[in-house]
Amino acid sequence: MTVKTIDDLLKEGVSGRHILVRSDFNVPLDDNGTITDAGRIDASLPTLKALTEAGAKVIVMAHLGRPKGEVNPKFSLQPVAEALSEKLGQYVALAGDVSGEDAHERANGLTEGDVLLLENVRFDPRETSKDDAKRGEFADELAALAADDGAFVSDGFGVVHRAQTSVYDVAKRLPAYAGYLVNKEVSVLDKAANNPEHPYVVVLGGSKVSDKLGVIEALATKADKLIIGGGMCYTFLAAKGINVQESLLQEEMIDTCKKLLEDHGDRIVLPVDLIAAEKFDRDAEKKTVELDGIPEGWMSLDIGPKSVEEFAKVLASAKTIFWNGPMGVFEFERFADGTRGVAQAIIDATQNNGAFSVVGGGDSAASVRTLGLDEDGFSHISTGGGASLEFLEGKTLPGVDVLNA
Ligand code: ADP
Ligand code: MG
Repeated sequence: MTVKTIDDLLKEGVSGRHILVRSDFNVPLDDNGTITDAGRIDASLPTLKALTEAGAKVIVMAHLGRPKGEVNPKFSLQPVAEALSEKLGQYVALAGDVSGEDAHERANGLTEGDVLLLENVRFDPRETSKDDAKRGEFADELAALAADDGAFVSDGFGVVHRAQTSVYDVAKRLPAYAGYLVNKEVSVLDKAANNPEHPYVVVLGGSKVSDKLGVIEALATKADKLIIGGGMCYTFLAAKGINVQESLLQEEMIDTCKKLLEDHGDRIVLPVDLIAAEKFDRDAEKKTVELDGIPEGWMSLDIGPKSVEEFAKVLASAKTIFWNGPMGVFEFERFADGTRGVAQAIIDATQNNGAFSVVGGGDSAASVRTLGLDEDGFSHISTGGGASLEFLEGKTLPGVDVLNA
């Protein structure tokens, strides 16, 4: 990457300067508003600590969920401010607004080493507006928080594929630098995207074929094997004439899947058995079945043990592995074995075969932690779902591109 990084900024000196940082704090919350996986907050710490230790006045911008441009307490960054205070070991104040009076007063009142978190940037409809002028106006307000000698550090990797105000437009108004997380993500993913050691095996799962069609098409020729499980495999199985009963199915994608199988059938690896469930429920009755054996009215919520074995065989010889998307509904423990088994096979290939393994995708990363797998067993767990997929597809990421001086 030819962009300036936070190390360049630290060399220039940040003591006493207002540094505006875009972080990714889009963490999952349970019904009580408790953070269930703080992985993204942890990943933001190196950049924030480096800045506070160097005496910067740090102002952090982030979003949470989809408040759709309206102030909604349900999507307040309050729980993040609390978690961040604890993890940084210093009080992190949460502004009462995004770029309004309270944010400006608090920004003016910062002293060296302080951290201020602005309220959810998506409370302001201009954040995601398609209108350049509206985003520009919002960006002016945000950049003003950083005063005259301020700078911008882009560290929210999960959002760099979006040309949104706090990611893109702000970077045009202040001297801009890549934070440690963005820098690391880009260099790791660059290796998987542009310089993979072969055999290169890609494992895709998750909910929808349509979400990941771009990456399937891009990787079908780059990867040696494309393993497909999770919710998206049923559309492929249907394309092969299998009756998937009530399993997740995107009818409108069947023809596309047929075409992919015709063109790349030798590379695409599909499950050979399934775990059928009577209904979509964590306690649902379950049965291991052959592909055409899903009982009438049932659905498949996981891949079966023979599939895990087949997938593990392919993974065992891999030198580069990219995994995105759970193999089943891992949120229900009864249907988590496929995801756990494949994740473990990737860890084994990494540890025993020296494979370079990257996990991308919010739910995939969360599954590693909630299923009790060893996070350090993988070479890298990306904090970005969409961003990592778009990078692997070969698309430019506006939030990274804008940092190129
Ligand atoms: P990621 O965030 O890692 O990119 P996705 O968002 O694409 O992954 O998909 C994750 C979701 O896919 C999980 O919530 C999981 O429950 C769901 N899923 C996986 N397999 C199935 C299945 N067989 N039926 C329904 N949903 C599934
Ligand atoms: Mg997801």
